[in-house]
Amino acid sequence: MRALAGFALAVLAACSLGAAGPQVGAGSEWTSPGGDPGKIHHSALTQINAQNVNNLGLAWQAKLGTMRGMEATPVMVGGVLYTSGVAGRAYAFDAATGKQLWAFEPKVDMQLNRTACCDMVNRGVAVARGKVYVAALDGWLYALDAKTGAVVWKTDFIENRKKGDNSTGAPEIAGDVVVIGMAGAEYDVRGSVTALDLETGKLRWRWHVVPHDPALGPQETPELEAALRTWDPKSRWDIGGGGAPWDAIAFDSETGYLLVGTGNGGPYATSKRSPAGGDNLYLGSLVALDPKTGRMVWHYQQTPGDDWDFTSTQPLILTHLKIDGQDRSVILHAPKNGFLYVIDRASGKLLKASPIARINWAKGIDPATGKPIPDRAASDYTDGPKIVFPATPGARNWHPASFDPATGLYYAAVLDMGNLIFMTPGQKPLKARGLNNDAALIFTPDVKDALATLPPPMAEAVRALPAYAEALREPSKTQIRAIEPLTGKTVWSADTAGWQDRAGVLTTASGLLIHGNVGGKLFVRETKTGRVLKTIETGTPIMAAPMTYTVNGVQYIAVMAGWGGGGFPYVPRYSAAYDRGNMNRLMVFRLGGGKVNQPPLLPPLEVAPEPPTQVAGANAEMIARGQGLFFGNCAICHANRHRSITPDLRRMQPGTHELFREIVLGGALVAGGMPRWDDILSPSDADAIHSYLIDQQKQTRSDELAKVKAGKPLDGPSLTILSNY
Ligand code: CA
Repeated sequence: MRALAGFALAVLAACSLGAAGPQVGAGSEWTSPGGDPGKIHHSALTQINAQNVNNLGLAWQAKLGTMRGMEATPVMVGGVLYTSGVAGRAYAFDAATGKQLWAFEPKVDMQLNRTACCDMVNRGVAVARGKVYVAALDGWLYALDAKTGAVVWKTDFIENRKKGDNSTGAPEIAGDVVVIGMAGAEYDVRGSVTALDLETGKLRWRWHVVPHDPALGPQETPELEAALRTWDPKSRWDIGGGGAPWDAIAFDSETGYLLVGTGNGGPYATSKRSPAGGDNLYLGSLVALDPKTGRMVWHYQQTPGDDWDFTSTQPLILTHLKIDGQDRSVILHAPKNGFLYVIDRASGKLLKASPIARINWAKGIDPATGKPIPDRAASDYTDGPKIVFPATPGARNWHPASFDPATGLYYAAVLDMGNLIFMTPGQKPLKARGLNNDAALIFTPDVKDALATLPPPMAEAVRALPAYAEALREPSKTQIRAIEPLTGKTVWSADTAGWQDRAGVLTTASGLLIHGNVGGKLFVRETKTGRVLKTIETGTPIMAAPMTYTVNGVQYIAVMAGWGGGGFPYVPRYSAAYDRGNMNRLMVFRLGGGKVNQPPLLPPLEVAPEPPTQVAGANAEMIARGQGLFFGNCAICHANRHRSITPDLRRMQPGTHELFREIVLGGALVAGGMPRWDDILSPSDADAIHSYLIDQQKQTRSDELAKVKAGKPLDGPSLTILSNY
């Protein structure tokens, strides 16, 4: 009763403050990862509030036994908490007691792990009609019996198994279909959204984001014929074009449309992907589809001619705003490209767009056409390296944002950073199921560090860029911000531990904003000011968004913990995973709960073992070739940092060295998540990579022995990322 009363009060509060429309967020249940039908990540619950939050403590927790990125927001329906984990595992718990009701582990083709740029993550489940829907990493959608976890049906939703498609998103229910997108635009994919019958899993429709090679015949739909005019007929159709809609799929119950944010172009640079240029529809766009037919109703392209991995797959918030005196039904959306957009849900028309981070790929947005005014001089890296703002990890990424109807503010983690980006030479042949983004990135939390890794002429060119001076002028940062949706103005901001410290957020009608950090803390702030009201040390990184619900009149706050996602192998010093590992768990809090036990500290580092003698024929040339192959294929998962999620290959034991070819080419460790590479790498390639790693291990061992001798700690160097993701 207490919770119900709170709910009613919250409704009144929202109305009396003049919030447009009846939207108040989620009630006692949290029915989809976004919470309510608008996915505003806001709760009407008020039992936990500023006066009593100091008593917030652990109600129960579930250790999941895995050690990867946790990105899902749990769902609570009928007293059961459902969530997902590594590669599409799913779990059901009694939401009050934490008793595990069932766990489901899909049999995943680990070979597809090779095409998961950004960890074996999963962003949640859909629950409807007594079933729980979850998508496995290898592109199978499972319908599970909500009571038992038994498989009711499963459907392979990947169109072309020769490609590198994978899946990390949460399914979305739209009428009598369940809709799922796919991931993999760094690889060789053609983006698509698939709708399956809720009851049978039968394919109902598939919508393709980009056209196929026109030489193969007519496109699937008239909208793709229209899109074709924005592509060079000689585009790299073999690579697929990209556009993978890996998140940001929302059914809008007001318009009846299925709203989809599409992904980046592949390869990255338009000059390689579509040499004659063009907007390359429908990359980097929001589209509205008719969920009955799968046909497009409208589109709005946020990043025409994407060169920078600027996905529009960041979470959509559906709400109402008063604009020029009129109540408008809108999408609030901040994609990677640095703007916060307000878009009319019915027409797709741009209403407002405001920068929320430094941007140099566009000079602004033309309000008449809704199109960005490109700044090619600053951001086209076809003829030389550029520092582009925002960086490819995006001003925003998957971390859920929240909209609070009472304050009218948009709350989100925002990254303000540029990155160095440059072409790799020439047009490369297709690498089937391989990285085909074909551009090199260096993230520049410290741009001077990045330059030290470049050949001198390139470093010189970078120093001459205005963006270099800008990067020096103001260091990069990630903040939790409260933002006015119509102006982009920051009302308050709170610095996080570092640029990789981003997290999803929850707001409640009691004026609380709750979010974690990768340092393992859970923060409760005041929505109006950002002031911290309560901090809970958990010792496990928290990137996922918290959610809240009530059972038997008690309000709970739940959150998934685990480091990972894009750049997952690069564990920053400020991540709790660095000191305490990455034990995945679901933590649930309530008033009067107990203390959270932090996982124990990891043992101190030991000096890298002695490497074996070099492989036959190893010389400087072979080692350099191995280094190139390593960065082109392996570095996306193997950071070779001693505190990483994947093994540090500078510390291989003799047995691993002995089996090196078997592991890389023969798939000896596929079950453990290490795919086989014999379709891309030859035995001589594997040997070259091995020679590079032996060389690295020799170097590492000698550096570390010197450190031990000098009495210095063995901690690794400061973070620099060179990556193709
Ligand atoms: Ca991407």
